Amino acid sequence: MGFFSDLGKKTSETTGKIARETKLKMKINENKGKIEDIYEEIGKKVYEKHIREENIDIKTDLAEECSKLDALSKEIEDARLEILKLNQKKLCSKCSAEIEAGAVFCPKCGEKQTAEPTIKEEALEKLENAEIPPEKKEEAEAVKEDLKEEKQENE
Ligand SMILES: [Zn+2]
Repeated sequence: MGFFSDLGKKTSETTGKIARETKLKMKINENKGKIEDIYEEIGKKVYEKHIREENIDIKTDLAEECSKLDALSKEIEDARLEILKLNQKKLCSKCSAEIEAGAVFCPKCGEKQTAEPTIKEEALEKLENAEIPPEKKEEAEAVKEDLKEEKQENE
């Protein structure tokens, strides 16, 4: 299997993937820190209003903070999804459980997943376009058959 399972997974790509994941995780942590700071600002504002015996109006007094929180949370969400993708995982469309990218049904709630081109389909395409050394032809055909079967099951 070695030769073919390594297709498309060159060492440089793996290193790139790890570097990308590390970067995304740093981004998530950075944003979490920023979110904490904003919470603190909000708390301070609310307390100052309390001291002055004033009411706080979220829409006007905290609009800036809230829109910053929205943006930071969105970035965290996107980074999480990208990390999942890097690890060939995705979230169930119903219960948000972490599942295999190629899963047809969620193992947790049973929801049927909308079909997306899976990593295996991409591998099949690469394999079909690859130059196969003659002594590996038979092995290649067997791998192709496996991948095709899987593809049909997914459809
Ligand atoms: Zn689910």
